[in-house]
Amino acid sequence: MASSHTAYIGLGSNLNVPLAQLRQARTALNNLRHCTVENCSRPYWSTAIGPVEQPDYLNAVLQLQTQLDPTALLSAMRQIEDEQGRTRTLHWGARTLDLDLLLFDERIIDRKDLTVPHPRLHERNFVVYPLYDIAPTLLLPDGTALTALLEQLPDTGLQLALHYL
Ligand code: ATP
Ligand code: CA
Ligand code: CA
Repeated sequence: MASSHTAYIGLGSNLNVPLAQLRQARTALNNLRHCTVENCSRPYWSTAIGPVEQPDYLNAVLQLQTQLDPTALLSAMRQIEDEQGRTRTLHWGARTLDLDLLLFDERIIDRKDLTVPHPRLHERNFVVYPLYDIAPTLLLPDGTALTALLEQLPDTGLQLALHYL
């Protein structure tokens, strides 16, 4: 039997009712073969960063138990984005759904199509705060404690949403 892995996935949406998009994505991830959503943060609103003016994002992080390898998981994530109407025109433009693979066990992956830990994880409060909600004692593969990142990151532009996922 394939071994089981723990992956953390960042979810973001700023189009077509973001809360509904995140809920649908959570269900889709849980419905993947050999995948179970073990835990999910509360959603946070965050001010959009990027080249153009766009609506605020709703962000969350979930913990997935999976027997897929990172490549298969990334491809399944991309398929879910596509199914939820993601269009890929402008990088960092508005989107119905963005799924980022933040962490995969203690793995360090440095490929053209996949970098893990996610290269911008440590500088994004909309990733680190929700990740802390579900994994407060987590260490990154290089030994950095999540709490150390949290202390360096102001919660500017970040607001806990009213609803649970
Ligand atoms: P950012 O990566 O800054 O959050 P983004 O999410 O808007 O930006 P996308 O357009 O969704 O970027 O993805 C661009 C490419 O990033 C994808 O084609 C994918 O192959 C690659 N990629 C590399 N590492 C990862 C990762 N850890 N998770 C998701 N995609 C990744
Ligand atoms: Ca992203
Ligand atoms: Ca992405």
